[in-house]
Amino acid sequence: MENKINTKFDAIVVGAGPAGTSCAIILAKKGKKVLLIERGDFAGAKNVFGGVVYQSALQEVLTEDEIKTLPIERVVNNHRYCFLTEDESVSVSYKNFKNVTKNRSFTTLRAKFDKYMVEIAKKYGVCFAYSTKVESLIIENHFVKGVQTQNETVFAKIVVLADGVNSILAENLGIRKPVEPEDVALSVKEVFKFDENIINERFNLEDSNSGSGFLFAGYPMDETLGVGFLYTNKATVSIGVGVCLDELLKTDMRPYDYLEKLKKHPFIEPLLKDGTFVEYSAHLIPEGGFRKIPKLYSNGVLVVGDAAGLINNVHFEGTNIAMISGKLAAVVANEAIEKQDVSEKFLKNYHKQLEKSFVFKDMKSYQDVISIVKSRKRSFLNFYIKEICEFFDCFVCAKAIEKKKVFTNFIYNFFSKRCFIEPLKDFVAILKIILGVFR
Ligand code: FAD
Repeated sequence: MENKINTKFDAIVVGAGPAGTSCAIILAKKGKKVLLIERGDFAGAKNVFGGVVYQSALQEVLTEDEIKTLPIERVVNNHRYCFLTEDESVSVSYKNFKNVTKNRSFTTLRAKFDKYMVEIAKKYGVCFAYSTKVESLIIENHFVKGVQTQNETVFAKIVVLADGVNSILAENLGIRKPVEPEDVALSVKEVFKFDENIINERFNLEDSNSGSGFLFAGYPMDETLGVGFLYTNKATVSIGVGVCLDELLKTDMRPYDYLEKLKKHPFIEPLLKDGTFVEYSAHLIPEGGFRKIPKLYSNGVLVVGDAAGLINNVHFEGTNIAMISGKLAAVVANEAIEKQDVSEKFLKNYHKQLEKSFVFKDMKSYQDVISIVKSRKRSFLNFYIKEICEFFDCFVCAKAIEKKKVFTNFIYNFFSKRCFIEPLKDFVAILKIILGVFR
């Protein structure tokens, strides 16, 4: 081939998100010659997330010193789960005042985080090619042998696809199907700039290292399956919504409309008051779950992270799973290179490693949660949230009525709105979720 370059790499990793950089770092630490290719002008240039990264996954890939110098915004030590109706809210908040250094999660900005991960990879000898899009895979004798970019053909003993939720490369290879609306959520996010101290005051944070993470359920996505989120960064606040794409297509709403409504909610509007709009972004999130995990290996190739649909959307865990799958792929790829056996028979070990890890176990436990909640969405995201708010309204309002009467009325109203069969169906749905998780 005319444009074949002289260097032959041990491994090529496509995509410098958390999955790709983790894979490249582990392979390079094991002495392998790695090429990491990213289509963005720099790592993180095209990436969007909420969002947080998790200490436990970082510890699997980076040294303690490398973690200490991570470009983190804040440690998320205030968690709030908020249930909204159009004009009410009920919140549950969690904070651990004792174990402040254990199992932490950090807000970070992808433009900084991904760049930092690439710098670490380069330190271990990874060759990084940016502004380079992999157009296709080179296949010879049924084995993936390298990649074709806009400019050149590059060969390697193994290729790892870490190219994110759409992974056209895995699709063209025939190991995964095109993304269907029911397999993804569409997320839109906005970022607002504030003075650091305003963020500290508004979110009741001790200092500029402490952060808050909010999850919003109910209004305005009480008819469509979706949630809202808000995270505090050092001097910015990220707010967004994620809505199941198949649900969205049944409405005439755009995700942006939901975000606008969420921002105007009386609970949220004061938190964002006088913020300077900085950024708007949109991205897909895999939602297919365990049943939709594609084949993750073929001769000479492995698939990791979002490209493999590996995400736990109930717990908002994507970056950690991406990093762990990247690490496990690196371990198996390294062995395959050393044994000179990159056949799919050997690479199946990657699938086996994932099976043994929390990644597959959790995804299996949660495989039915989204579809169950979808089938009962009007109950869980609308009816019960309204009822909980109604209950608190009864509880806090000092009406000049005997309390027994107030609560009897509440119970009577509840059952007059809802006959026995619907709560029974909801109970069965909750039971199914619990039994699924403990299966
Ligand atoms: P990506 O991060 O998508 O990286 C893929 C990379 O491949 C990109 O850099 C892309 O430019 C590059 N690429 C693609 N195609 C090519 C090509 N052909 N050639 C070269 N390069 C290519 N997860 C959490 O853990 N916590 C959160 O709070 C959280 N919040 C989120 C909020 C939003 C709005 C979204 C959208 C996601 C969120 N996630 C969160 C999920 C998380 O961001 C993903 O699971 C994670 O980024 C997946 O990492 P990845 O490396 O597999 O893919």
